[in-house]
Amino acid sequence: MVKRNLSLNLEFRDPSMTTTTGLASSYHAHIYFDAESRDRARALRELISETFEGLGIGRFHEKHVGPHPRWSCQISFSLDMFAVIVPWLMVNRDGLIIFLHPVTDDDLADHKDFPLWMGEILPLGLDMFRK
Ligand code: ZN
Repeated sequence: MVKRNLSLNLEFRDPSMTTTTGLASSYHAHIYFDAESRDRARALRELISETFEGLGIGRFHEKHVGPHPRWSCQISFSLDMFAVIVPWLMVNRDGLIIFLHPVTDDDLADHKDFPLWMGEILPLGLDMFRK
């Protein structure tokens, strides 16, 4: 097995946004929902806040915000939480779509090139990030 330097393909412009491994130091998980799945999303948000400390739990938006194509709620967390929160979300997302991305100084790449999706992949409104 070949070990590769994780930082090879992750040369962000602002080194303060990354760790010494070249990985982003923070991440967002956006929980997507609609009128039909609102209650499950609210329950998941509640379960996250009961289960974890040190996360940033955003507002419950029953409207489209930013590039997001569904109603959404943002969970933000640091790299050292990644290995805990991501596997947990995989088995606890209750069928909800989750869009997860790193937070670097390049919003377009974060949303277009770097994301991880749980469930369906949805088109985002990326024009807001294009200059
Ligand atoms: Zn985000």
